[in-house]
Amino acid sequence: MDADRTAWEQRSVVRVVAPVEPRKLAKVPFVELADGRLQGVVSSGSDIERVYVSSITAGTHALSCSTNNNRPCGALHGYACKHIRMLADEAVLQYGMDRVARYLRVEVAEDGDLIGSLNRLVERTPAAVVFSRFLRHLAYLEVPDSTEPLAELHWFPAMGAVR
Ligand SMILES: [Zn+2]
Repeated sequence: MDADRTAWEQRSVVRVVAPVEPRKLAKVPFVELADGRLQGVVSSGSDIERVYVSSITAGTHALSCSTNNNRPCGALHGYACKHIRMLADEAVLQYGMDRVARYLRVEVAEDGDLIGSLNRLVERTPAAVVFSRFLRHLAYLEVPDSTEPLAELHWFPAMGAVR
């Protein structure tokens, strides 16, 4: 990990972290370990116009899920809704179980059930913060490939933020 971090510090461009396993981008278009949370955007199963912003806070393991319009997710009642489960599954594909568990500071039980190993605390995290990061992420996907540093990305140390 330290080697990674050092490599990042010596580069002025942020490397896109390749997923450990292929991910289902249509269902979970955005997942990141940032701001002390595993957070991301999950498509609604029933309504293509709607997305859910879901997160699990590191340390406290507080669960949050709401639509991009800040409506609370009706399925989140003291246990993880399917959006949070999908987010966690995709995070494990993206980062690997060890890294996700370490970031969230969770002891994963032997059955490998990350969600089942969390406390069942529900806390509403404002969706707007996560959603605006998602939109910014989309915007950067449209920036043409270049080896020149993108000045704004110095504020988003994607690799440095995950320890
Ligand atoms: Zn939900």
